[in-house]
Amino acid sequence: MGVSHAPSPDLTAPDGATPAARSIVALSGGVGGARFLRGTLSALRAGALPGVAADASVTVVANTADDWWIHGLKVCPDLDTVMYTLGGGIDVERGWGRDGETWATSEELAAYGAGPEWFGLGDRDIATHLVRTQMVEAGYPLSAVTAALCRRWEPDVELLPMTDDRVETHIAIADPEEASGRRTVHFQEYWVRMRAQVPAEAVVVVGLDRATPAPGVLEALAGADLVMLPPSNPVVSVGTILGVPGLREALREGPAPVVGVSPIIGASHVHGMARQLLDSLGVEVSAGAVARHYGARAAGGVLDGWLVADTDADQVAGVEAAGIACAAVPLLMSDDAATGRMAAAATELVLR
Ligand code: GDP
Ligand code: CA
Repeated sequence: MGVSHAPSPDLTAPDGATPAARSIVALSGGVGGARFLRGTLSALRAGALPGVAADASVTVVANTADDWWIHGLKVCPDLDTVMYTLGGGIDVERGWGRDGETWATSEELAAYGAGPEWFGLGDRDIATHLVRTQMVEAGYPLSAVTAALCRRWEPDVELLPMTDDRVETHIAIADPEEASGRRTVHFQEYWVRMRAQVPAEAVVVVGLDRATPAPGVLEALAGADLVMLPPSNPVVSVGTILGVPGLREALREGPAPVVGVSPIIGASHVHGMARQLLDSLGVEVSAGAVARHYGARAAGGVLDGWLVADTDADQVAGVEAAGIACAAVPLLMSDDAATGRMAAAATELVLR
């Protein structure tokens, strides 16, 4: 008895149009990147991203230069923020760490005077760090550890660290008590303890020049139909990812259009502290200046398209003059629906 098959779905767009994008790569930091990805995924799965197939695969390449060791634990803040956010385990109010968190371990450590008291390590979160640390000490590369952790969270993306190598952002700050007049602190101390209140004299990403992209990163970029840069920090999130040798070239020479979303609205960074670090690079704090800092792909940079906020419409002409397609739309990620509309504007800009 014959079996009749329904005709297979036509995966190509009508004649003349570009086929729908089926594989997306995004380069992400922590809170800003994760929020963008969650809204993007909900729009994507609803078929609401112009030019993108609803079942497209998404690979997220996350920054690992914020990673550090504390109390013998390997902590990867940006990987965990993306994993928890997309896996439904994030504390939504805080934007980082686990929901339903308790803090008994940190309180006990504080009672011993065993700091640092400024770095939040919740009890549930510590379980993640324990599993990761055990696996790392057993010799597994971070990419394999991340894949193992994601088997629990099922984030609906393939989550890759930018590199398996140890890379750490350090910030040089002025210190008159030092003979050299300056002192270097780990990024976490600068960001969390000092809240970036002291001017950064330099950003030094230790180990970056010797790092290699994690397994799967270059392959994902070579097979991508679209690359997205969420509104993550251009210096210490996207900047460090692009600094992994070979990664910027893979974006520039790869087949996929690259579209980014400005993390700067007006002359400010909405949430977070991006402004302080842009100052240290000498990049003006504006949506247009960040786009020109990334540069047009056609002119040796990484961008084909860039979204600025509707209130920054005066920046569009300057971005276009630099060879980057640009549109002005609302860029506040107030909820997933608003974020999904941002993502739709981004795909529309480069995939039509
Ligand atoms: P981190 O690793 O936790 O610092 O997070 P990311 O590097 O991924 O993103 C932080 C950046 O996201 C901040 O510096 C802001 O510039 C940006 N950001 C946060 N909320 C919003 C928003 O609602 N809209 C836009 N356009 N950018 C935002
Ligand atoms: Ca981060």
